Amino acid sequence: MPQLRQNIITGEWVVMAPERAKRPNEYVTADTIKHQVKAECPFCVGKPTYGSRIKSEDTANIYVAPNKFPAFLPEENISVRGYYPEKGFYRVKPAIGGHELIITKNHDHSLDAMPRNILEEMFLAIQRRYLVYAKNDLVEYVMAIYNHGPVAGASIEHGHAQLFSSSIVPSLIVKEKHGSEKYFELNGVCVYCDMIEHEKKEKIRMLAETDSFVMFNFFASRFPFEIWIVPKKHSSNFEIAGYSIIRDLSKIMRRGLDMLNETLNDPPLNFFIHSLPTTSENADYYHWHLEIAPRVTGYGGYEIGSGVIIDITSPEECAKYLKQSEKH
Ligand SMILES: [Zn+2]
Ligand SMILES: [Zn+2]
Ligand SMILES: [Zn+2]
Repeated sequence: MPQLRQNIITGEWVVMAPERAKRPNEYVTADTIKHQVKAECPFCVGKPTYGSRIKSEDTANIYVAPNKFPAFLPEENISVRGYYPEKGFYRVKPAIGGHELIITKNHDHSLDAMPRNILEEMFLAIQRRYLVYAKNDLVEYVMAIYNHGPVAGASIEHGHAQLFSSSIVPSLIVKEKHGSEKYFELNGVCVYCDMIEHEKKEKIRMLAETDSFVMFNFFASRFPFEIWIVPKKHSSNFEIAGYSIIRDLSKIMRRGLDMLNETLNDPPLNFFIHSLPTTSENADYYHWHLEIAPRVTGYGGYEIGSGVIIDITSPEECAKYLKQSEKH
């Protein structure tokens, strides 16, 4: 059973989920995944994953299924109490929550080739499942992520997003929330709203703008070509965004992905949605957004040893390069 172990020094939580290592494809190389045989794909319609799906969430092109090797488990049948093992020295909590997959019905709709309307369907499914978990008092945070390509952690080629619902707020969100609260206290405005205005004026990192969104390379990026997609109208909670916003999100997202495809030849990447913890609602200081992290370089010893990232490509250069794709 997965558990949350607390780092006794920093206070940060780690999910210990040894069951996940049982995945037979855990040790295959990037190359084998690229050539996974469709007939053996566990996510195709008709396969066991499809059989275990939550049928009420089925749409034309998407289905939702529980992860067979979850990092977080529903609270049924397990104690939700934290405890202090090894004579009370360390702190452990059960990893309560949920871990679901949002899967495209068509095997060939991986992220690089996913049509805009299916991206939209995927975001809508994420919202519906997000709201289900937000109602659970034990869940503090829900994060939607997508791994594209083995380098980015995808062990199955068939397109799928993942939803992690946890009884803890992830440390990056704690930092973002704390930082934006402080900015709001000092300036009386949302830092993301200010950043949108600034990026629109400066234009050097801006990639695209639609009715509802801006898309730009992030000033202090942790990854070369790191892209942020931010709604123009202030809103702290992704899960309650209306249909026209989600439709517009799928449009700008498709454009961003196409820019990466054309200039970097379908790079491995992760994307994730940052929204307010489920315990709070409608904050003036926090602003939901989507971050795309292309994985074209790996982290070395300094990054892992220090927590300080060395990004070898400036976001200003990245923006110029990405925009070339739209000129022809
Ligand atoms: Zn498949
Ligand atoms: Zn804002
Ligand atoms: Zn963020």
